[in-house]
Amino acid sequence: MKNYYVMTLFPELIENVTKESISGRAIKSGLMSVTAFNIRDYTKDAHNHVDDYPYGGGAGMLMQVQPVVDCYKHIVNKIGHRPARVLFMSPQGRTFDQKMAEELAQEEDILFLCGHYEGIDERALEILDVENVSIGDYVLTGGELPALSMIDSISRLVHGVLNKDESHEIESFSDGLLEYPQYTRPENFEEHYVPKILLSGDHKKVDEWRHQMSLERTRERRPDLYEKYVAEHPDEFAPKKPKRRRRKTNGTETQSTDSI
Ligand code: SAM
Repeated sequence: MKNYYVMTLFPELIENVTKESISGRAIKSGLMSVTAFNIRDYTKDAHNHVDDYPYGGGAGMLMQVQPVVDCYKHIVNKIGHRPARVLFMSPQGRTFDQKMAEELAQEEDILFLCGHYEGIDERALEILDVENVSIGDYVLTGGELPALSMIDSISRLVHGVLNKDESHEIESFSDGLLEYPQYTRPENFEEHYVPKILLSGDHKKVDEWRHQMSLERTRERRPDLYEKYVAEHPDEFAPKKPKRRRRKTNGTETQSTDSI
């Protein structure tokens, strides 16, 4: 059972999204839990404020250190240990990708800390000793959507969460390439046809075609990934050696070279 904890000012946002679809099914079947903690519940401010002006001036407000640290301490006391990973959703962090999702899917418990306003008092981040994680080079208003995106992609890699029809093994990024194009019924939709090879029943040829499509699609759409793939698979891209074979001409054997 994987346990994901989310520190947020918007717990309902987390609960409403994770109770749906595949994550909702995984929660119901006991494969994972998602618990949202409202940081506002831990403020000692008479008016329930969790934010204040930044020292030194500047635009916007910052989440205060006290409610964040008290919320964290409450979670650690409740579960009896520090979660295996404590991640602060931050545009300044390591960019989340499929490799990191695979790495995080191995962890038993993960804490996601969501910032809001202009962020969080730096002392809270030091005390919690967070790892900064970004979902991309753009700025959102809060860490909830990044946390939800991460929980979604991590949990679908947890054993048993996807059923056999929803396998994640042949998907974009799983082998460093983007996934090939896919088709379902009907074979002909308004004169738009399914590629014939997919109807051939020849699994070897279908696999070769799909790999070729993955390569072409990755080269076109993500040249950065394509270059990495080529560098990591030198054998696949090495010029094919001419095949040496013996051919009989007038009873004498000569060597000939034919391309494969
Ligand atoms: N002032 C901060 C900065 O420049 O780094 C940005 C604060 S942003 C408006 C508010 C919160 O949204 C952040 O504390 C963080 O939790 C979350 N956030 C925004 N963009 C994000 C991203 N690309 N990845 C992860 N979290 C993000």
